[in-house]
Amino acid sequence: MALRVLHLEDDPNDVELVRAALEEDGLPSEVTRVETETDFVAALEKDFFDIILADYKLPSFDGLSALTIAKEKRREIPFICVSGTIGEELAIETLKSGATDYVLKDRLYRIAPAVRRALREAEDRSQRKKAEEDLVKYREHLEELVESRTAELSEMNLHLDKEIRERIRVEREIRVIAENVPALFSCIDKDGVYRFVNKRYEDWFGIPCIEITGKPVKDIIGEPAYEVIKDKAKAVLSGERITFEAAIPYKIGGTRWMYVTYVPDIDSKGNIKGFYSLASDITEKKQFEEELKRSNEDLEQFAYSASHDLKEPLRTVSGFIKLLQKRYKGRLDEKADEYIEYAVDGVSKMQRLIKDLLVYSRVGEDGRTFRPTNCSEVLDRALINLRSAIEEDKAEVTYDPLPTIMANDTQMIRLFQNLVGNSLKFRGSEPPRIHISADRKDGEWLFTVRDNGIGIDPHDADRIFVIFRRLHTAKEYEGTGIGLSICKKIVELHGGRIWVESEPGRGSMFYFIIPVA
Ligand code: ADP
Repeated sequence: MALRVLHLEDDPNDVELVRAALEEDGLPSEVTRVETETDFVAALEKDFFDIILADYKLPSFDGLSALTIAKEKRREIPFICVSGTIGEELAIETLKSGATDYVLKDRLYRIAPAVRRALREAEDRSQRKKAEEDLVKYREHLEELVESRTAELSEMNLHLDKEIRERIRVEREIRVIAENVPALFSCIDKDGVYRFVNKRYEDWFGIPCIEITGKPVKDIIGEPAYEVIKDKAKAVLSGERITFEAAIPYKIGGTRWMYVTYVPDIDSKGNIKGFYSLASDITEKKQFEEELKRSNEDLEQFAYSASHDLKEPLRTVSGFIKLLQKRYKGRLDEKADEYIEYAVDGVSKMQRLIKDLLVYSRVGEDGRTFRPTNCSEVLDRALINLRSAIEEDKAEVTYDPLPTIMANDTQMIRLFQNLVGNSLKFRGSEPPRIHISADRKDGEWLFTVRDNGIGIDPHDADRIFVIFRRLHTAKEYEGTGIGLSICKKIVELHGGRIWVESEPGRGSMFYFIIPVA
């Protein structure tokens, strides 16, 4: 590529000579010749040049002034004075003022080497400058980087500091909780060794906590107890949370009923490090439950025998009173007729009571066989049993598709029949509207029987499930007060529970839950 030369020279011949000298020496060039200051400045501003050559003396301008302008405007372009003879002083001044070199016109063989050197120096300079700039830039970048990393680091430190403080606090709190729970609390590693036990262990086993920590569970609780919990410990170490009730024969003597929860100890990477164990003694509760169960069974047995044994004499009384009524009605005085009427009424109430009581006492006995039971079919059967009441009341009974569940169908028919029967009995002034539905909610079926009847005061919501409890007199609504206690027994037999939500005058929602399995 041709060398771009700005030549300040009034003599075109000299310009041509210089150009020829350069070309001869392998530096072909493209020369812009200027003579005046205005042209010189204009050229500098408009175009780009590799080198400036300048004569020292011009008619309206001079080399030294040109040099000053060039240094101001284009510092990087090398500047060589090409002139006739100049004095030594002037030559020195020129170089001092920043000219790269000077060449005398009668020694033009020097021009090409001088230009070459000037270009090389300029190139070096520009490279050095670039390198310096790069260095500055790099340093700035580095500083920025250091600054931002430092900020990040100090933020991280702050965070870490907070986290550590938080951890210490949580740990302290956990310790306080662990020490004060009314249960045996411990932390066990995956080899079955105690890592932490609370004070309760000390009271329970009579060994100081520090002596329990570090020992295998088996050694502390004893082999027979260990046999009971072994599989559960294995299960929790596979990551499963476990809760169980078990009679545990301890080394210290005596079998205790314990309610135990095992929670796996999983670190942030998902590794199981061991497990936490929380065990409370429920022996007394268990004994109480057993006793309650036994006394309930006794009571049931008694109710059953009593009602069963009463049936026979009652039938006799009923038979003879009816006979009395048939034979002697109108033959004795009016009072006698009235008394007989009362007796007949009383006997039939008693018969109903005994019938219900028998049903109640038999729920547990008769209802233990569970089969897959289609609740829609069960409900249909209950509604058939209630058909005449439904028709009489002009009731509208609707229901959603109901599930098939593991249940005793006879008991389920009775359950629906009692609930729908009550909705018919405790109707309001409007014709009864009853809707039955079921929703599945985590492992359970939630059944709803909704009516538009007289409703129940929330204060009585629990009481109505107690046997013989009624909110009305027999005159207002007839009944024995056993129906809902039968419902409760049936639902509980199926592992569920029953309750009511209602308000007087706004209808009732009877809910019951039956577990899916
Ligand atoms: P009974 O129907 O023989 O009185 P229950 O045990 O079936 O006995 O019911 C107890 C009481 O609960 C009833 O006397 C009644 O006051 C109230 N009750 C039950 N079902 C309903 C209902 N669907 N609407 C309003 N009250 C009800």
